[in-house]
Amino acid sequence: GGSTPKRAVAAKPAASMPQSGRPAVEVYDLHKSYGTLEVLKGVGLIAQPGEVVSMIGSSGSGKSTFLRCINLLEQPKSGRILIDGEEIRLKPGKGGGAVPADQKQVERIRARVGMVFQSFNLWPHLSVLDNIIEAPIHVLKESKAEASERAHELLRKVGLGDKHAQFPGQLSGGQQQRAAIARTLAMRPKVILLDEPTSALDPELVGEVLRVIRQLADEGNTMILVTHEMQFAREVSHHIKFLHQGRVEEEGSPDQIFTNPRSERLSQFLARCN
Ligand code: ADP
Ligand code: MG
Repeated sequence: GGSTPKRAVAAKPAASMPQSGRPAVEVYDLHKSYGTLEVLKGVGLIAQPGEVVSMIGSSGSGKSTFLRCINLLEQPKSGRILIDGEEIRLKPGKGGGAVPADQKQVERIRARVGMVFQSFNLWPHLSVLDNIIEAPIHVLKESKAEASERAHELLRKVGLGDKHAQFPGQLSGGQQQRAAIARTLAMRPKVILLDEPTSALDPELVGEVLRVIRQLADEGNTMILVTHEMQFAREVSHHIKFLHQGRVEEEGSPDQIFTNPRSERLSQFLARCN
């Protein structure tokens, strides 16, 4: 159960915020199960505009499920999710889950929340340029000329200015992931979710993708990053959450997490990562 909105929880961070600002992402007390398997047991997260929040933790701790709930690829059992101050309206669904109440809202939220997957997920039958302009044209209703101009600009930004006519299969993994990042940026998202964006890459291609992500951070993009690249998470994050079996076991600043872990579980996890 526990689907009652938790106003007291929401009021606290809001009260300590500057008058003008509202968080880009707020998640309160998120629960999610697959059948009888409880995967998220009350996970929360707040990302202010321009912040990078990283999520670390062992495989199976619920990191991907958490991201997938934020952009409504998965339906949480209970909890609250707000994007740029707009709360996603959930209603009870079949089998104890909560489903979005409003399909229009789902589309609006999905357009505001960018997602970068481990496996790139570019359309193989479309050129790099067509991959990037598809959603701006069909979802944001940009003209083809407008979308193409911006796509070229974004491709230059990620170092692929000369690859617009290529097909994904003609690119290296690192180039494909950079193209996927450009595609995400083309939607001008309020927040970018990145789920292990370098885990599928050969080691020599990791750096070129991390450089692009670092640039996005420096430019003030709001990001929620799931990664096993601990040094990178340390350098780029404002805040880090350590997930263990569907709960936030420990969280804090990068320095707190990496130089002064409080819990035995986090210490052990970090030792295994080295
Ligand atoms: P992480 O990203 O931290 O590795 P996941 O969120 O992918 O963790 O998975 C958390 C748990 O949920 C794991 O036990 C996983 O096997 C399970 N799980 C994930 N997706 C599904 C699914 N679609 N159906 C059933 N179980 C799932
Ligand atoms: Mg995962």
